[in-house]
Amino acid sequence: MPRFTTKLFTDLAIWMIIFGLLTGISFPFFALWLGLPAQQILTPKFWMATLGAGLLLGTINYMLARRVVRPRLQLLANHMHVVESTIRDATFSGNWRHCSTEHCRVAVDSNDEIGESARAFNDLVEALFRSKEVEQAVSDFSKTLSSQLELDLLSSQALEMLLQHTNALAGALLIEKSGRMEVVAQHGLDNPAALADSDYVRKAMRTRKTQCVEFPEGVQVEAVMARFCPKEIIVTSVEFKENSLGVIILASNQAFNPEVSWLLELFRQGFGLALNNALIHAHLQHIAALDALTGAYNRRFGMARLHEEFNRSNRSSAPLGLIMVDLDHFKHINDTYGHLIGDRVLHLTSDSIRNSLRGGDLMIRYGGEEFLVVLPAAKLKEATDIAERIRCIIAKLNVQDGEQTVRLTASFGVSAYPEDNAIDIEELISHVDTALYQAKAQGRNQVVIANTNPGST
Ligand code: GH3
Ligand code: MG
Ligand code: MG
Repeated sequence: MPRFTTKLFTDLAIWMIIFGLLTGISFPFFALWLGLPAQQILTPKFWMATLGAGLLLGTINYMLARRVVRPRLQLLANHMHVVESTIRDATFSGNWRHCSTEHCRVAVDSNDEIGESARAFNDLVEALFRSKEVEQAVSDFSKTLSSQLELDLLSSQALEMLLQHTNALAGALLIEKSGRMEVVAQHGLDNPAALADSDYVRKAMRTRKTQCVEFPEGVQVEAVMARFCPKEIIVTSVEFKENSLGVIILASNQAFNPEVSWLLELFRQGFGLALNNALIHAHLQHIAALDALTGAYNRRFGMARLHEEFNRSNRSSAPLGLIMVDLDHFKHINDTYGHLIGDRVLHLTSDSIRNSLRGGDLMIRYGGEEFLVVLPAAKLKEATDIAERIRCIIAKLNVQDGEQTVRLTASFGVSAYPEDNAIDIEELISHVDTALYQAKAQGRNQVVIANTNPGST
């Protein structure tokens, strides 16, 4: 329809009046066709009456349209203004508490173009809030990723955020350590260790492609409150400079929203860099804690760990075994065979000690050819047995220097807390040191148990 003005209702009024007038003009001819007498119809009075009736009808139609349609359009426009100003305020104040899809929806109460406009408006509001959520998620991700260097904390925080923003009920983060996949963070999984051998994880590491798969058999998924059967699992790799560093696994009891894949893509990019930094940091920390020649903890880091272990043992009343090892006549070995052979002897000695220990035990290079061995949960008897075992192994070592064989032995002082009545770690160390001194004095190559009740001597 051609437009007369820029206002819809003014156009509507003009059209209604034109049609009213046309109806008024044409009505007398219609009346003639119906057979009404011409002398009554073709009079100015009749024309005026039909024109007036047509005009009135047009005006009433216009008024009705205005009354029925206009308030609803006005309502929609008002609501849009309120939402617009709420969003504007929230953008500048940073407080989005009053902005939610529920607050900003308009009621859809008709099945026509106005209803359609209201629906489209609601969809627009929803898309706007979703985009705000995604922006928030990306900002949360980058904040955490850029502020965390500790691998464990970084992994657990990253997984927590991923679960929150993807609505996954369970998930895990695995990274490659010395050729094996290791779970560094997990949520809601019964048997996360099984993931390390999963073909999907291997495939993600190899191809660096995202897979949507069924959960590996034998791994039960348990959400925080209720068990659930996963419907969809996403397995994707984390990479840095085209090298796979690890794998992210997310499980949901319903199909993932299509947005999840690009949200994950955004996350992976930042996480790859952060994970690489955390791995380098962990590696540097590890190097800084170790003695280069023997691979034992250096004295500074080792003593800090020993304090931790002693405090833990003190709190939990769990025993703590302590052995001090000192090579016998090591100066003589150095003087006879040279420092290089001396170094090799130290290296072999530390290997022998390490091979006799369990996972949680610590070996500290306490001095030049002196080692402290810390045995959490070991009582005096167990610590003495371990010391004896190490003594035998060292005594059997053969270090070759050309044709010559270097023989060596070591002396040991041993004690265990709380059987030892030491009041602190310094006193416990002093007791094993005294026992070691005794072992030396009694002829070397032997294990001496510290006097656990020093007051009695
Ligand atoms: P004892 O049986 O009484 O313990 O006698 P010892 O000769 O073992 O003890 P002493 O303390 O007299 O000598 C320790 C030697 O260890 C002296 C030092 O040169 C040597 N040493 C310390 N650190 C290193 C090292 O890193 N490499 C080498 N090759 N020798 C070292
Ligand atoms: Mg010595
Ligand atoms: Mg010494």
